[in-house]
Amino acid sequence: MAGPNMDALWMPFTANRQFKAAPRLLVAADGVHYTDADGRRVLDGTSGLWCVNAGHNRRPIVEAVQRQVATLDYAPPFQMGHPLAFEAAAELAAMAPAGLDRVFFVNSGSEAAETALKIALAYHRARGDAGRVKLIGRERGYHGVNFGGMAVGGIAGNRKHFPVGLPTVDHIRHPLDIERNAYSRGLPAHGVELAEEFEQRLLTLHDPSTVAALIVEPMQGSAGVILPPAGYLRRLREICDKYGILLIFDEVITGFGRLGSDWASTLFGVTPDLLTCAKGLSNGMVPMGAVLARRDIHDSLLAAASAPGAVEFPHGYTYSAHPLACAAAVATLRLYREEALFERAAALAPAFGEAAHALRGLPHLRDIRNLGLVAGIELESRPGQPGQRGYEVFLKCWERGVLVRQTGDIIAVSPPLIFEPAHVDQLFSTLADALRATE
Ligand code: PLP
Repeated sequence: MAGPNMDALWMPFTANRQFKAAPRLLVAADGVHYTDADGRRVLDGTSGLWCVNAGHNRRPIVEAVQRQVATLDYAPPFQMGHPLAFEAAAELAAMAPAGLDRVFFVNSGSEAAETALKIALAYHRARGDAGRVKLIGRERGYHGVNFGGMAVGGIAGNRKHFPVGLPTVDHIRHPLDIERNAYSRGLPAHGVELAEEFEQRLLTLHDPSTVAALIVEPMQGSAGVILPPAGYLRRLREICDKYGILLIFDEVITGFGRLGSDWASTLFGVTPDLLTCAKGLSNGMVPMGAVLARRDIHDSLLAAASAPGAVEFPHGYTYSAHPLACAAAVATLRLYREEALFERAAALAPAFGEAAHALRGLPHLRDIRNLGLVAGIELESRPGQPGQRGYEVFLKCWERGVLVRQTGDIIAVSPPLIFEPAHVDQLFSTLADALRATE
């Protein structure tokens, strides 16, 4: 059968010419597998794009979305509501880290980042502290692709084509230190002093009273699985508290069981003031994201709008709390609970981590990092050809029926939480073969 004409589609974050010369097409999915256009079953080692945490095409979610589309296809979210939006927010608030029980819905992780940054600015202004305008991110951070998230983000390749940024942004250093922490299991031992640097270098430079928020991913996913050194996030929390700076955790990847816990915040015992999530919120079935806010942040913004009919926070999207997304989210959150999927991920995590570290000693490896159901395998780059070796390993895994993710010369794996031990074996034995077969 002839494939589709591919000319019209401009593909995102894709080497378009290379892809169209040798396409990889997915046509169906079920559980932990994709089916490709040749009818091959491919093991999903990446939960799609870190989002299909409960596994593919799960019936309760599919049926909830089908019911919803046949009942209420769309409802405007501005000055109007629909019951499922409130239900979804209540479900999400009920599982949120303590105190973060006000929910603003968006449609993606990128929009969640923009929204959280805007809430931070609006909150300080509402409290009469309008001079707090600076936003601090972290090198190698990823907060999506919109201008705010890109500005606080720190992946150089994503920024260099768009050198506009925001005038009020700076970055703390990332904590990846392979020299001291190579092959750490779980959290790296070294690097807590990088949190001190936030206070000693950046806040001294900027004057902390001008800083609105610090945004970090508890675990940096897109940049290649960069884990926080033990004690580091707690120290960032203390410094933010000391200077009245809001701490935003971007849990777009780390939320919903990925690290063997509902949130990274719970796992690390550090609660942010604002938390962004997306991906696993709706199990990837319908686009959705959210910002969870401390109740008093929400309340101060509402209280600051003096006129009774005033819109307190002029922000939102046509598709905020879309009925299909809400149906998917409610069904997804119930499924996580009913099947105890976060606990299941925690139970599988030790064997998963062992299997990842068993790759040690294979050709070209620089580092292996793991936490929960995430592992990052960093390869030596070929001289003058960064990313090439990583791409070949990705391709060899695909040819062998396993989907992994490549960022530069780092391979990241993050399977659905319903993986069985046999799937773990298949994932890592395929990766081992691919590594052995790569120059
Ligand atoms: N924030 C983090 C931590 C992410 O990992 C991602 C996507 O991978 C985003 C934000 C952006 O999400 P989206 O692609 O849904 O806009």
